[in-house]
Amino acid sequence: QAKQAGKNRYAVFDPDNDSMTRRKLEKIEAIRQGLLQQQFVLYYQPKVNMHTGHVSGAEALIRWQHPQKGLLLPGYFIPVIEQHHLSVAIGNWVLESAFRQLDQWIEVGLPKDFVVSVNIGVVQLHDPSFKEYLVELLKRYPRVSANQLELEILETGAIDDISYVSGLILELQSYGFTCSLDDFGTGYSSLTFLKNIPARTIKIDQSFIRTLPHDPEHFMIINSILGLAKSLNRQVIAEGVENILHGELLLELGFTAAQGYAIAKPMPAEVLPDWVATWQPPQAWKSCTALSVD
Ligand code: C2E
Ligand code: MG
Ligand code: MG
Ligand code: MG
Repeated sequence: QAKQAGKNRYAVFDPDNDSMTRRKLEKIEAIRQGLLQQQFVLYYQPKVNMHTGHVSGAEALIRWQHPQKGLLLPGYFIPVIEQHHLSVAIGNWVLESAFRQLDQWIEVGLPKDFVVSVNIGVVQLHDPSFKEYLVELLKRYPRVSANQLELEILETGAIDDISYVSGLILELQSYGFTCSLDDFGTGYSSLTFLKNIPARTIKIDQSFIRTLPHDPEHFMIINSILGLAKSLNRQVIAEGVENILHGELLLELGFTAAQGYAIAKPMPAEVLPDWVATWQPPQAWKSCTALSVD
């Protein structure tokens, strides 16, 4: 009987299933408490031009400073709340924190065109008050301009409802916000999809970058994404640039924008302004000659 129930995906009395659900609910409750007790924090990972060394902005990546478990990565708690309304609360907290941080950075002299990118979850994307909340934040932080905020939307999240997401992106961009497609290449999307999604930037998923030195097919995939982006007039950024060789290969293909451990790991907000002021690309990147114009 139990075995049978285990195969039925509507079974609710399966004891394994039940304890899994209980653990999940406990975790959601812990996350709710963590949010109330201000245990969440944003780390920032710089986005740079590998050739010139210009730092254009940083991606905000959420962490949970857990009193017992230490610093927890989003993989530990974001998937659990994905379909839960708590993800809207966390998402709004992330947006507010990003605005507050930008406001502070402007005060300490970070350039007014420094862009902070925020990851937007699928539920948040469909939250009817998402757009109004962004507009409210613009009013609350008058020093921050909309073009300093970039919204990273997962390719896989956009593909489910192309007409809704493309409409939303157009609206957001009419306020001055920019939108990018995150983890591009993992969602099996078509050329038509990309043509219909008006995101300004494509972020090539790190799985393609990591295997670049020994996978000629990934080399070709990246090259065609670059061609595609150029012909559709989109910008491209590579994520997961882990070592100098990755960067060199990308530069040879004509990529300049990148993010990855070879440049910097995600860091606390306090240390970012100093990092921006002092970072220099490795010599091999500076002297890359494959690039004509940028
Ligand atoms: P993502 O948006 O694709 O972010 C890139 C992830 O790759 C980050 O992991 C980053 O720390 C990591 N990474 C960056 N460079 C390298 C590299 O060179 N090598 C390797 N191996 N990894 C690198 P993280 O911070 O653990 O975030 C994982 C995912 O969690 C993010 O993927 C994003 O989808 C999600 N996430 C992060 N913060 C938020 C948030 O505030 N809201 C939502 N909804 N999702 C978030
Ligand atoms: Mg991202
Ligand atoms: Mg990504
Ligand atoms: Mg990712």
